[in-house]
Amino acid sequence: MFSLAACSAEDEKKTAMETIPEIPADPAGKVVKTDAEWKKLLTPEQYRILREAGTERANGEVYKEFKHQGKGTYHCAGCGALLFSSNEKFDSGCGWPSFYDPAKADHVAIKKDFSFGALRIEVTCAKCGGHLGHVFEGEGFKTPTDKRYCINGGGLKFVPAKEEQKAAAK
Ligand SMILES: [Zn+2]
Repeated sequence: MFSLAACSAEDEKKTAMETIPEIPADPAGKVVKTDAEWKKLLTPEQYRILREAGTERANGEVYKEFKHQGKGTYHCAGCGALLFSSNEKFDSGCGWPSFYDPAKADHVAIKKDFSFGALRIEVTCAKCGGHLGHVFEGEGFKTPTDKRYCINGGGLKFVPAKEEQKAAAK
């Protein structure tokens, strides 16, 4: 009985996922750099995630740090675009930083990928095209959107709310 229930939940998930619209990258805000320039700018881990669509280890150091971060915003480690905020962060238990909604949707692009025989929805930075992670919908999380933006913490830069206020006051 259990396997039947699990199966139909999986089907529902797929149908729900197909309703997520694609969001093309923002052409006005394009940050274009060569691979050599990115390599200079990013740490090897950031480069692997953002430029080579790598995935960081689940429950790694970055995730532990993420769990203890207070109020603030999350920016692209490549170009600094505002992507997510602590207001939309939630504990999904998946081992990667999770958000239910982007802080500024303009800076997050969504691309559907069928290349491995299953639908995967990739989340990238709309400004520099950096790979961030994937988005899933309809998993039953009690959040306003029931979407899970599953993001590599290594591709993000956290700015605590206190520092933001300081910067604004200057
Ligand atoms: Zn970016």
